[in-house]
Amino acid sequence: PRECQLVVFGVGGVGKSALKLQFVQNHFMTTEYDPTVDEAYIKQCIIDDEVVRLNVNEEYGNMYRERLMRMGEGFLIVYSITSRASFGEISSFHQQILRVRDQAAFPVIVVANKCDLERERQGRKLAKRLGCIFIEASAKEHTNVDEVFTNLVREIRRL
Ligand code: GDP
Repeated sequence: PRECQLVVFGVGGVGKSALKLQFVQNHFMTTEYDPTVDEAYIKQCIIDDEVVRLNVNEEYGNMYRERLMRMGEGFLIVYSITSRASFGEISSFHQQILRVRDQAAFPVIVVANKCDLERERQGRKLAKRLGCIFIEASAKEHTNVDEVFTNLVREIRRL
C-alpha cells in the first residue's frame, strides 16, 4: 500500500504525543510519554476505499524541524484550546512549512486539541479570573445572542 509521511507540530504540552498514541494505539496515556524512545508510529487504514500506511512523526525540540518539514507529505499543527500561546504559534509553523517546501500551499490541518477541557478555554479562564461572566456567541448564526443580554441584565440585578 501507499505509505504516507505525516508530521505533527505544535508547542510543547498541546498533546502531540497523546494524539499520535490515541490514533495509532487507541489509548490515552496518563503517564508522561518519553518522546526520545524512537518507535515508529504506523497505522494502516482504509480511507475512501483506498489502503494507506500512515507514518506519524513528531517533532521533539527544534532539532529535526527542517528535516521533518522536508519529508512530510502532510502536517498537523496542533494547539490547545487552553493555551493562547500555543494558538499564537500556529502561523509560524505554517509559514515555516511553506518556506521549507517552497510552496504557496501544502496539506495542513490545524487541530484544536483538548476540546474536552471546554471549561478551561482561554476566554473562559480569563473571564473567571476577572470575575466576569463568559459566553460564546455567534452574531451571524444568532447563537446565544439573547443569552448575552439576558445574562448581563441578570448580573446587574444580582450585584
Ligand atoms: P506534547 O508535548 O505536545 O506531545 O503533549 P503531550 O501529548 O505530552 O500532552 C501534554 C499533556 O496534556 C499530558 O498530560 C496529556 O495527558 C494531556 N493531554 C493531551 N491531550 C489531551 C486532551 O485532548 N485532553 C486533555 N484533557 N488532556 C490532554
